[in-house]
Amino acid sequence: MSKITMTTPLVEMDGDEMTRILWQFIKDDLILPYVDLKTEYYDLGLKYRNETDDQVTIDSANATKKYGVAVKCATITPNAARMDEYNLKQMWKSPNGTIRAMLDGTVFRAPIIVKGIEPCVKNWEKPITLARHAYGDVYKNTEIKVPSAGKAELVFTAADGTETRELIHEFDGPGIIQGIHNTEKSISSFARACFNYAIDTKQDIWFATKDTISKKYDHTFKDIMQDIYDKEYDAKFKELGIEYFYTLIDDAVARVMKAKGGFIWACKNYDGDVMSDMVSSAFGSLAMMTSVLVSPDGNYEYEAAHGTVMRHYYKHLKGEETSTNSVATIFAWTGALRKRGELDNLPDLMAFADKLEAATLKTIEEGKMTKDLALITSLKDVTVLNSENFILAVKETLDSMM
Ligand code: NAP
Ligand code: MG
Repeated sequence: MSKITMTTPLVEMDGDEMTRILWQFIKDDLILPYVDLKTEYYDLGLKYRNETDDQVTIDSANATKKYGVAVKCATITPNAARMDEYNLKQMWKSPNGTIRAMLDGTVFRAPIIVKGIEPCVKNWEKPITLARHAYGDVYKNTEIKVPSAGKAELVFTAADGTETRELIHEFDGPGIIQGIHNTEKSISSFARACFNYAIDTKQDIWFATKDTISKKYDHTFKDIMQDIYDKEYDAKFKELGIEYFYTLIDDAVARVMKAKGGFIWACKNYDGDVMSDMVSSAFGSLAMMTSVLVSPDGNYEYEAAHGTVMRHYYKHLKGEETSTNSVATIFAWTGALRKRGELDNLPDLMAFADKLEAATLKTIEEGKMTKDLALITSLKDVTVLNSENFILAVKETLDSMM
């Protein structure tokens, strides 16, 4: 059988620990035998990030801007313990944070639905995708612990020196104050990333804030979203038969619980943080959640939503068997290959991505899975496989489908 050809390379961002091990298995067993794989390789493993003073992360983000599609393995975000473990020159920033800032992107997370892993919410039949605005608000806040009575004001000083003031509160005793911000530029990028993703995946999109209470801050989000939708997207949405609507966050929560799924829920930064954890756990498992960063100018970076699964890696280093779920990492590869196929007009590559996903799900539905899924599945008499054997079982299914 001849291998499927590619024309433009994928930007390949390798990573750390257990996911780095899965990465190699996936490439060797599930991709290289079928695809004449073209990638531009960047090693974002912590050791090499440290050696290059994190330049490799910046280079990989620039390559993503150049080629348009990247696939990323989970990476360690260093903390104090990692400083010693890897003998780091510096506590390097989160690669995801660096890449997100450079691509000006929005993160979309969607659960992978498979028979046998049932969502806790019985009426959820299709995935619910969370779109999280990943800049500002409480994540870039300034806070003061008020020690005693006094007056708190919000002051904006314009470039020409003009001041605008608003009273926050007259304190008659100790308390707390918080200042947050966002920018029209970032909110506009978020809006376009959301609408482009809705068009790409042909799904409705909901956006919700608390604009009845926050009449300027949240209301500005609502206005910018609506304005960009009306001017740039309305016609395309109508053509595809999809819908954008705004509702209050409380109403959105109530509707989500009663919905069937199959839509995108766009959230401000904090809401997206909290709601994506709720939605992913309600769908079953973090190891079954895909994540893609989409930039407003159409660059895509695919990854798994989980981390490097450190606890399993340490067992692996001790020579113990692991049963780490590779599904989200396989789907990161298929997402990237399918998008590359779409952009380069390579139907065979797109069909391969579909087939590999179908083979992965079929393997689980036939009762072959890793331990994390075996613990929550409704299927009877399942076979628990180790990390590599699960990938080999997927290969067997894939071969039978070829
Ligand atoms: P984690 O790697 O997501 O793992 C947390 C726990 O969730 C695991 O110990 C495991 O539970 C379970 N789990 C997660 N993924 C799994 C999988 N594929 N298969 C089976 N079980 C899975 O989070 P963490 O341990 O908090 O973080 C480890 C490292 O990852 C950190 O250095 C962090 O900086 C990094 N991280 C990176 C990213 C990213 O690159 N996108 C995201 C998050 C965290 P059991 O141990 O109970 O089996
Ligand atoms: Mg969170």
